[in-house]
Amino acid sequence: MTATPNMYPSTKTWSPFKGCNFDCTYCVPTFKAQAKRQKKNCMRCYRYEPHEHPERLSRSPGKDDIIFACGNSDISFCAPTFVRQIIDAIRTRPEKTFYLQSKKPACFEPFLKLLPKNVILVTTLETNRDEGYDKFSKAPPPSERYHQFKALDYPRKIVTIEPVMDFDVEVFTRWIVSLKPEYVWLGLNSHPDSAPLPEPSEEKLRQLTAALAQHKVLVKGKKLRGYVLPGVLTQELSRRLDSSPQTVKGGIGMTKESSSGDNAVAVVEPDSVIDYARVERAASWIHKKLIETVDRGARDIGEYVLKEFFKGNPEFASSRDPYKNASFRDLADKCGTPEIPVSKSWLHNAVAVAIMIRQLPQGATAFKQLALSHQAELLPLRDPAKVEKVAKEAVTMVWTVSHLREVVAKKRSKTPKDESKGGRSPTPVIVKTLNRSLKVFTLEGGKRSFTKAQVEELDEEQRKEAVESAQGLIEQLKDLVIKLKKA
Ligand code: SF4
Repeated sequence: MTATPNMYPSTKTWSPFKGCNFDCTYCVPTFKAQAKRQKKNCMRCYRYEPHEHPERLSRSPGKDDIIFACGNSDISFCAPTFVRQIIDAIRTRPEKTFYLQSKKPACFEPFLKLLPKNVILVTTLETNRDEGYDKFSKAPPPSERYHQFKALDYPRKIVTIEPVMDFDVEVFTRWIVSLKPEYVWLGLNSHPDSAPLPEPSEEKLRQLTAALAQHKVLVKGKKLRGYVLPGVLTQELSRRLDSSPQTVKGGIGMTKESSSGDNAVAVVEPDSVIDYARVERAASWIHKKLIETVDRGARDIGEYVLKEFFKGNPEFASSRDPYKNASFRDLADKCGTPEIPVSKSWLHNAVAVAIMIRQLPQGATAFKQLALSHQAELLPLRDPAKVEKVAKEAVTMVWTVSHLREVVAKKRSKTPKDESKGGRSPTPVIVKTLNRSLKVFTLEGGKRSFTKAQVEELDEEQRKEAVESAQGLIEQLKDLVIKLKKA
């Protein structure tokens, strides 16, 4: 029996064994719905009851190179004697690749030595989270399945993350990497209305696929609702990989060379699909260049300003005294001009990062590896040891700036305010208002009085109004000074 399944591209399902009792909720609108079409042919298929179809063992599983054996079932429900017959049938087709999949991968253990090289073992891990999983399936919980799959001493494995459920990026990445799969199949819940599942955010998926890409784990996927996930081969490209013998896995070449000897000219094919290998290469080249030039430059600039304007004293540079270093303020005012084509906040960040680098624990390397944008997000953590710890995670997990911001915000909300550890107590409202007012009265160049030209700009009426406002302000300030002196 052959049918094009919705799951893996470029495969055909061959079903000498059908049915399953794991009762996954998302099976109802998918495999079980397909099985309902079999009412006239086989009532056991219709009921999705585990059962054998020995007459299919000798039937051709189709022209495709990859065969999803027993795709409409979980083979763990199949009797061992019949599993052996299925393996024997596979053995007669060495030119094809067979996927054998189970959510109870320990069931493969007794057959490992019998499996020919053209068999790839597959298990589904929708998530790493066990808690609450029993609401969605009677299959072994994800952690058990992971350990079972890992324990299989077999060189060819694939992990299916479909339908993906909410997960913990770090743990899930570690699991998948340690399973050393030939690739990971990633799919979203295709029936969210009839079989709702707790889903991860797009950002989380991005973190997962980026982390897997960093560990050189190939991830293939369907359309994935149009999400752009780093390192994921779309279904279209996966088909090309699976069907093109000239394409090398892990190095997707989009150019062909003419066969005219040494002077071969590269012919560029139309770039209608994403060339992930090229994108990854370019991203890592740009990242390296940024670190070498822009970010290295930021660090040097921060150090220079720290020495030149703050005598290399981090405390002085971090002080919020509005009167501190008028020269630095003047320099910052030049930001955004052709003379200093960076923003004021960039300059402040460069100085703050230089200060943080001076305070990092000995041997710390992660914070220095990050781009300035990431480093700036870590600064609110203040504690250099904590900063380095989170920086390590950000480097390993390839976090985006926005994810890092979220992590830092969460950590800060959990940290009790402890002034003894250098936490600054909130500025009282009076001090804050006066500081702000002083800033308002600070003109470009750090001058604290209005120029003659600005006064002359006002007409008679505006001048009167300005005098009234200034006098009102003076009265309020006098009143405040009296109160402050009395207190
Ligand atoms: S394990 Fe597969 S076949 Fe069995 S119920 Fe779940 S989704 Fe369906």
